[in-house]
Amino acid sequence: MIIREVKPAGLYIHVPFCSSVCPYCDFAVTIAGADRRSAYLDALDREVAGSADHGLRFDTVYFGGGTPSSLAPDQLARILATINARLDLAPDATRHIEINPDDVSRAAAAAWRELDFTFASLGVQSFSDEVLGFLGRRHGAADARRAAGTLLEAGFTTVSVDLIFGLPGQTADDWRRQLETVLELGVHHLSCYQLTIHDGTVFGRRHALGELRELDEDGQADLYLMTHEILGGAGWEGYEVSNFAAGADHRSRHNRKYWDHTPYLGLGPSAHSFVGRRRWWNQRKSRLWTAAIEEDRSPIEGRETLSDAELFFEAVMLGLRTADGIDRDALQRRFGDEVAAFDEPAVERLAESGHLLVDGARIRPSSKGMAVAEGLVRTVLP
Ligand code: SF4
Repeated sequence: MIIREVKPAGLYIHVPFCSSVCPYCDFAVTIAGADRRSAYLDALDREVAGSADHGLRFDTVYFGGGTPSSLAPDQLARILATINARLDLAPDATRHIEINPDDVSRAAAAAWRELDFTFASLGVQSFSDEVLGFLGRRHGAADARRAAGTLLEAGFTTVSVDLIFGLPGQTADDWRRQLETVLELGVHHLSCYQLTIHDGTVFGRRHALGELRELDEDGQADLYLMTHEILGGAGWEGYEVSNFAAGADHRSRHNRKYWDHTPYLGLGPSAHSFVGRRRWWNQRKSRLWTAAIEEDRSPIEGRETLSDAELFFEAVMLGLRTADGIDRDALQRRFGDEVAAFDEPAVERLAESGHLLVDGARIRPSSKGMAVAEGLVRTVLP
């Protein structure tokens, strides 16, 4: 049995353009000139216009990619105008944009603020020139610092930086310096991602040739726990496995929706949507997505309907990635006792080993638990 709450939804807009493709990147990105960008904007207008019948009210809008900041402010304004005209957007909706340090200038930051973007995610990846070179990034460490300062001066409510950790040969000292730089800059939020080597990328090919190796699991876990230690010591909270905030006001309101089954609608190539128990996703390749819309065909590439058991598994998996954890009573009310069953001795063992914090019906992961979050769900479910 599913009891659905009607919560405001999140709107995700995928902007697939990048000025070059990074050797580790597995996202749906493309390098394209003015014509393809213009075709994208036309197609997006049409996809937004055709999405009103979902009947959703949105209180977050997230421009991700790709590199949304590579669109000109008037192109971003056009997308926002279409959204405002066609969809039900709450007046206080949070607007979130991913920004590449290369694109940051005072004028650009002021233009993004004019468009009411309040949450800026800056794709720094590293504050080391050497690492940035290895990652194939076009910006340097000084550019990244300058960009963060410019966004702070422009008055974004939350300035977040993205960092990658677990690079081949990365030392604890190096990662400590990265985290100290985050704190020195005075930004409000950090998203940090473990380097994952994907097949089909340049790094994937180098990995297959034996030229590249990810840091071993223990090394990764040590760096991850150091993140909690250093940022926690500065009063920050690790509120989700990959996300840290300098206070609850700086948590990402949009990303929360992905973690607690709040509905979200994704528009643009590769974007995913989730409503109730239905999930669907768009054509991953920008050309196929654009062609489908131009030819009046659906740009949706696939869809699935989740069973109660699948939804419950996801709710536990996603919940145990967040500091708020899960409420077993609420899950039992939502799914019924038969579906929402736990392996009680396993929960007790994980509490004794310090991976889980159990307080009545609520189970939360400790930082040690978050370091092995992938394994928690399989352990606590029968
Ligand atoms: S800038 Fe980001 S989205 Fe674009 S290619 Fe690099 S990692 Fe991928």
